[in-house]
Amino acid sequence: MRKQIVAGNWKMNKTASETRALLEELQAQLPATSAGVMVAPTFVNLTGAVEQLGGSAIEVVAQNMHFADSGAYTGEISADMLADIGIQTVILGHSERRAYFGEDDALLEKKTAQAISKGMQVIFCFGEELEDRKAGKHFEVVASQLKNALFGLPDTAWGQIILAYEPVWAIGTGETASPEQAQEMHAFIRKIVADAYTPEVADAVTILYGGSVKPGNAAEIFSKPDVDGGLIGGASLNAEDFSAIVAAIG
Ligand code: PEP
Repeated sequence: MRKQIVAGNWKMNKTASETRALLEELQAQLPATSAGVMVAPTFVNLTGAVEQLGGSAIEVVAQNMHFADSGAYTGEISADMLADIGIQTVILGHSERRAYFGEDDALLEKKTAQAISKGMQVIFCFGEELEDRKAGKHFEVVASQLKNALFGLPDTAWGQIILAYEPVWAIGTGETASPEQAQEMHAFIRKIVADAYTPEVADAVTILYGGSVKPGNAAEIFSKPDVDGGLIGGASLNAEDFSAIVAAIG
């Protein structure tokens, strides 16, 4: 059985005190679940979050990292720095990193390889833009994002990969892919992973859906057979909404 996960990407939101307060609310409100629950505060609040959540089932994850071990990369954070404060999972390839910070498949290939070699788990984000979908190129775009950044990895690395399909047109827009559109793409993703690797690798990989998941639509999206949970942006900043989304996965 694949691992189900609900992960909250807090993006550039919440000061240290706001982070503490939201985590307190989450600890009080999150329902019991067999799914993995993750939150991704901003870098400066990771240490505090790890300390606050020590011993809890909520995993603290990072939103980004650099591909190098260390060195002259002003403003960047390495895998070792994250591991040293107790972070074991990193989000890579978020559409905002791709759109605003020029992250492309080649860079993401390097970042992912680095995270894997450091023993970290990667939540790898990808997804088509609106014009790709309108032009009927969404499968092609997604296939090429995965092939370029991930398919050079050995089979053994796939135990550390979580995929997050996030159609760019559905992120922060209130527009959600229908549960059928999500399922169709997730089944396609599983097929191309099976073709590139093995059916066993494809069957084992967790594939999250991201894009305007809210308490009102989460249960239907999560009910689809190839959707193993969600990467949640806006709604993860509110304890009640995030808890309701976690409850929707059961
Ligand atoms: C995201 O940023 O990964 C995301 C899915 O955002 P939202 O839920 O706000 O659409």
